Amino acid sequence: MMKPKGWRELTPGAVILEAGNAVEFKTGSWRAFRPVWREENCIQCLFCWLYCPDMAVIVRDGKRADFNYDYCKGCGICALECPGKKGNKAIIMQEEGK
Ligand code: SF4
Ligand code: SF4
Repeated sequence: MMKPKGWRELTPGAVILEAGNAVEFKTGSWRAFRPVWREENCIQCLFCWLYCPDMAVIVRDGKRADFNYDYCKGCGICALECPGKKGNKAIIMQEEGK
């Protein structure tokens, strides 16, 4: 497995010099809030997968599975867009470390 790069190894301005190298940067450590999935409220609409700018929602066999916390930056877009079941969100944002 490839060792993740620390911030001191980033290029100046975090400029991407090689195509497809985003996988090397585990951006999950930037997160202040973490999305938490409440499966019981999930209607499998896949809006979270569609809207996530970091492709951090895992879909397996056509169904939403969990988050890839290595790359989720905690932006909260998935929680905002999630319709949930009968108004009960299937994604809530929780402060990291709580
Ligand atoms: S919080 Fe943002 S980055 Fe993380 S899974 Fe949701 S939309 Fe993607
Ligand atoms: S947006 Fe919400 S309800 Fe839709 S698949 Fe994602 S978690 Fe489930």
